Amino acid sequence: MSAPSLFDYRDVVGPDIIEELTILASHVGDRSIKMVNSTAVGGGVAEMLHRIVPLLSELGVQVEWAVIEGDEPFFEITKAFHNALQGKEQVFPEKAFKTYLRYNDMNEEAMKFDQDLIVIHDPQPAAMIRRHENRRNRWVWRCHIDLSHPNEQLWRFMAPIVERYDAAIFTSALFSPRLKIPQYRFYPAIDPLDDKNKDLDKAYVEQVFVKYGIPRDKPIVTQISRYDPWKDPVGVVKAFKMARKYVDCRLLLVGDKAADDPESDTILAQVKAEAGDHPDIHTLLFSPSIATEINAFQRGSDIILQKSLREGFALTVSEALWKSRPVVGGAVGGIPVQIIDGYTGLLAHTVEGAGLAIRSLLNQPEFARQIGENGRCRVKDEFLITKNLKRYLLLLLALDKPQGGTIFLNG
Ligand code: UDP
Repeated sequence: MSAPSLFDYRDVVGPDIIEELTILASHVGDRSIKMVNSTAVGGGVAEMLHRIVPLLSELGVQVEWAVIEGDEPFFEITKAFHNALQGKEQVFPEKAFKTYLRYNDMNEEAMKFDQDLIVIHDPQPAAMIRRHENRRNRWVWRCHIDLSHPNEQLWRFMAPIVERYDAAIFTSALFSPRLKIPQYRFYPAIDPLDDKNKDLDKAYVEQVFVKYGIPRDKPIVTQISRYDPWKDPVGVVKAFKMARKYVDCRLLLVGDKAADDPESDTILAQVKAEAGDHPDIHTLLFSPSIATEINAFQRGSDIILQKSLREGFALTVSEALWKSRPVVGGAVGGIPVQIIDGYTGLLAHTVEGAGLAIRSLLNQPEFARQIGENGRCRVKDEFLITKNLKRYLLLLLALDKPQGGTIFLNG
């Protein structure tokens, strides 16, 4: 089946929203935009760009998506940067900064930047701007990570790079740092019609669980996330074990490997050590995963966890809420934007809190059903791709009239 076109979203969001996008796009005209990130598959940024890019193009915007090249030494450094920007204590040798800048220069040389707007996603390619001091176009840094507690040494290095941009985009006020450049705020979004989120029939869902040997004889509690320390999969196992003492259930941990994330094997080994030989704990590692199967795991689970310790947004939360699943999320980063505690999900601050939330949802199926339904409404209002198209169109228009301070594009 071919990818959905804009017209197909009318049935999901209503024709007026599509009309609004078309009108906005007519004002944007033939302005061009280039998106740059560090991986074509794996993780939320690639997930979003795969859909945003063709839909913006359908709206008449000239859009290009480029992925920077790197090898293991570079991605080891950028993953360490990612972790440190989210708060991991670490001292970087001067060599790490030099390597980071060298790879950015190499990538910059291999690319063209003649579009009206350049959007650089996350820290990996951020330093390419150094060679564009006298530019005529506009460059915006889109930060998808949780910058609430950045490592000081690294932020001293990164902040002046970020401040070379014309503006920066952050998801939440909780982690937008003080910067000398204007800031835009807007949320990420999911695509309700892509393979990850489209409706599936029950038989297919069942078939996926059978394929991977996960019995559905009792409630299934699932976390779907890269095996990354900030997603706290070890904490998930601990919380599950606490809940499992009181309610019969299974835990399913699903993760894939992103090309720019070398850490998964180590973290999965830690998860397995914590799980021991518990017969109700199942772990799967994909490279890469299949979107319809992830969709099936989300739909076929009784509770979805996203017990992150730091989190830029967590598309997984919106994906689960869109499927009306009750979600238990860590009270960090972009998760509280999606989960209004007790109304569109439950927030957990600790392992114990997550264990208790699992118990409480499994013991109160009507409450679990209701918050799942409320969650779906919240996603429909705020976190669907049509809203994000609008935000990008507004960004293209807003850049014509540069202004200081914070500009909210979440409306
Ligand atoms: N994902 C996936 N397979 C996996 C694990 C995650 O397809 O095994 C997807 C998940 O459904 C979501 C994205 O990867 O669409 C992760 O985005 P999120 O914002 O939750 O986290 P990130 O990995 O960007 O930190």
